[in-house]
Amino acid sequence: MKGAVLFCLRCGSETVDINHWEVGTKVAEVRCSKCGMTGFISGFTLGRIEINDHQMTEAKMDRAIPWWFRERD
Ligand SMILES: [Zn+2]
Repeated sequence: MKGAVLFCLRCGSETVDINHWEVGTKVAEVRCSKCGMTGFISGFTLGRIEINDHQMTEAKMDRAIPWWFRERD
């Protein structure tokens, strides 16, 4: 079974976690503990599992990055 990993779009780190929930909503603020980037997700939550280095590399290579962000690199 395949799942998903949440990555920081600024620094690429997977050290992203929910910082807080907007009270009374389905909106969570997520924060990267490596660079401090924050953003909001709505209607989803996160679950933690251990994955090995190979799985993490595969997830990083498969991550979705919008074309307008990619073309800046
Ligand atoms: Zn980051």
